[in-house]
Amino acid sequence: MPLEQTEAIVLRTFKVGEQDKIVAFFSKERGIIKGVAKGARKFSNRFGSSLEPLSLIKVYYYEKEGKELVTISNCDLLESFFELQHDLDTSFTVSYFAELIEEFSPSRAKNDKLFRLLLSLLRTLKKGGDLNFLTRYFEVWVLKINGVLPGLSRCKKCHKILTHSGWLSPKKDGVSCDSCATQKKEKIMPDLGSFVQWVRKNPPPEKGPLPFSAEQLGTIKKALNKMIIFHLEKVPKTFRLLP
Ligand SMILES: [Zn+2]
Repeated sequence: MPLEQTEAIVLRTFKVGEQDKIVAFFSKERGIIKGVAKGARKFSNRFGSSLEPLSLIKVYYYEKEGKELVTISNCDLLESFFELQHDLDTSFTVSYFAELIEEFSPSRAKNDKLFRLLLSLLRTLKKGGDLNFLTRYFEVWVLKINGVLPGLSRCKKCHKILTHSGWLSPKKDGVSCDSCATQKKEKIMPDLGSFVQWVRKNPPPEKGPLPFSAEQLGTIKKALNKMIIFHLEKVPKTFRLLP
């Protein structure tokens, strides 16, 4: 059994047996991997604080053929995000990020873009970035990286540029104008298109004035959430905890 190593972000851990933990980590090279950290719940264990949620770690592990769980041999803490757990709203928000990553990424599939996105958002949150804005920022990228963010600037049927509101298609794969829409249930405001364009061109914003108002972000949130629930075919567990 060769010892493997990778940089990873701890998504979540749960207790198993008397003294062990199962860790779901998002690795840079191989996507989501789950492993057992033996003795991780013992007082003063070799993992220290490296298994706190969202820690950036270097993880060393063994893999047994045919087994889903790897055995974690050691971890080095590279960067801690433990302080994000001190504020309840921030801690729920980062749990939501972790849940979306786990839900959207098939296990063992490398996704460098998503890895870098999560890391840069954690760093921005540490610097005091706006929770609501960064959550929408994250959602846009998660949908985009997974190839399910529809085009929002033109009507999907007649291709006319949408200057006013449009209607989200039932399969959430585009927006139709007033004359083409067959189902007028989910109104999409032009703000969403502008927001997506802004997000694609800019790094996550740190402290300071934001280019979209809280009211605009409210309608943007509704539309993004509908797309997420549609593609996951369920409501994320951490959804109701979000500020
Ligand atoms: Zn149209």
